[in-house]
Amino acid sequence: MIPQQVIDDILNRISIVDVIGRYIDLRKSGKNYLALCPFHNEKTPSFSVSEEKGLYHCFGCGASGNVVKFLMDYQRFSFIEVIENLARMAGVDLSRYSNDEGIRTGSEREILYRVNKEAMKFFHNQLLYSEEADEARNYLKNRGLSAEIIKTFQLGYGGKEWTTLSYYLKEKGFKEEDIIKAGLSSRGNSGLYDRFRDRVIFPIFNREGRVAGFGGRVLRESEKVAKYLNTQETPIFHKRSLLFAFHMARDEIVKKMEAIVVEGYMDVIGLFQGGIRNVVAPLGTSLTEDQLMFLKRFCDSVVFVFDGDEAGVKAANRALDIAVKSPLKKRAVILPGGKDPFDYVMQYGAPSFIHYLEKRKLEAIEFKLRYFSKFIDKKKEKAKFVGLILPYISQINSAIEREEGLRKIAGYVEENFSVIMDEYQNYVAKGRSVVSVLREVQENRGGLVKYPRVELEFISLISLFPKALDKVMGIITPEMIENEELRKLYEFVLENPGKASSEICGSIENQELLQYVSAYAQRENLKEENLVEMAYKLKFNYINREVSKIKVLIEQYEKASDYKEVKKCYEIQMRLQEEKKSVEESLKSCAQEMELSE
Ligand SMILES: [Zn+2]
Repeated sequence: MIPQQVIDDILNRISIVDVIGRYIDLRKSGKNYLALCPFHNEKTPSFSVSEEKGLYHCFGCGASGNVVKFLMDYQRFSFIEVIENLARMAGVDLSRYSNDEGIRTGSEREILYRVNKEAMKFFHNQLLYSEEADEARNYLKNRGLSAEIIKTFQLGYGGKEWTTLSYYLKEKGFKEEDIIKAGLSSRGNSGLYDRFRDRVIFPIFNREGRVAGFGGRVLRESEKVAKYLNTQETPIFHKRSLLFAFHMARDEIVKKMEAIVVEGYMDVIGLFQGGIRNVVAPLGTSLTEDQLMFLKRFCDSVVFVFDGDEAGVKAANRALDIAVKSPLKKRAVILPGGKDPFDYVMQYGAPSFIHYLEKRKLEAIEFKLRYFSKFIDKKKEKAKFVGLILPYISQINSAIEREEGLRKIAGYVEENFSVIMDEYQNYVAKGRSVVSVLREVQENRGGLVKYPRVELEFISLISLFPKALDKVMGIITPEMIENEELRKLYEFVLENPGKASSEICGSIENQELLQYVSAYAQRENLKEENLVEMAYKLKFNYINREVSKIKVLIEQYEKASDYKEVKKCYEIQMRLQEEKKSVEESLKSCAQEMELSE
């Protein structure tokens, strides 16, 4: 275990704005920072980060927490990995806790990254120097790749033998199970054997530039083996969310506010060599919504560039279907003459490629219209043709974009807009019942919080200003807090004086409560002074509750003719009334002070 004190120390050195700002684009807004939320799709920023309080909160989807929670959710890191990462950023050395199992061996993911890095070196050296790799070297050379680009992408070669890599990695001290877990080897009858054999290797980096997995392409196409082989899903390799070359393309994507999405690794590499660097590719599968959501954080438009053959056209159409809900501006280009982006840029050069894109890229809806017109005659079978494209339109989130789409359809099939609109409404009406029911369920789920308001506000405020504890601990004792969870949190604050706000919030396990506290933290004009007033209000409520309890007791004892107890109760009641009066006085003077200070 890393001592809590060390973790606290790391967190103290870290700026939440600095850390989150490494992943998303934060803009200053008043005291806080605003951004488009990385956890849900949105067009206007509702993701707020407060440096002062060390918390973030999204008013759209409710995501919230401190910097640790952010990294765990955003990067899918485990707690220990987040701490390892933050320690690195903060310049805190964790190595002296190295007798601890977790740190000495590193977290599981850390080990997988290390195995991969070592494997990448091995593959790369094989490609550059081994005799076996002659054919691979020639293949890349013949396709026109420079030595420089091979180095940039750390391309490699997996040898012809069955065990070279496995043996090498074991020599380097990695455990068999970790090598298998990284997807590099499988277990056979006589031990481990390499999975990437006799292939050109494309390391696949994550967004931080660490090797998450590999793609391998055969040198000679045959029916016996798959042309491409990718690492299977591992704890660090998620096909659905990673994008090939993103870490290298990122800056240019941000600069251009546009990402070019191609299908193959070679396409990306070819375009990079030509100097076009805002290019990424999905990992051997079609693009996913996760990948689009991720891109949305860095740019506002994507251009799909696909091969000019039938498969390419189909793939482009499918990509647009997947992208339909994304607020990204979407365009697609089909290259001429059956060429793929790699061939095109090698043959005609990058300027020509860019020019072609600019001239020929089609808005999603136009692309769709042309695509369907290949299958159905838009004049002879107008209704059927329109019917084909309405499902796509109905998926578009933005009402404006939807209407634009319907207008384009009207123009394309030479029909009145109102007729197309009618068709659309008919289509939607059929599916509406299900949609509206789903929506209702969702709205109910996000219902009101179940905590007493004053208690919730008090606890939120004390979590945000733990230093003000001295001012209220004489007024409020834990038993005055009715809600058990809030009471426990207050106890935690009392037991841990001097803890920072972000750490207190970090201890909140209930997501709903954490959301509330984080949302509360983003309010303007929060002052420590409010705390005292709130404490008295809370106490006032507490006394009222006690008074009604006593009343019930008095009734019960009177019925039972237990006058001794009745008398005791009256005494308590009197004391409560006095206390109540004094609290009321305090509340009044709080109000006066507030007036004076404003
Ligand atoms: Zn959100």
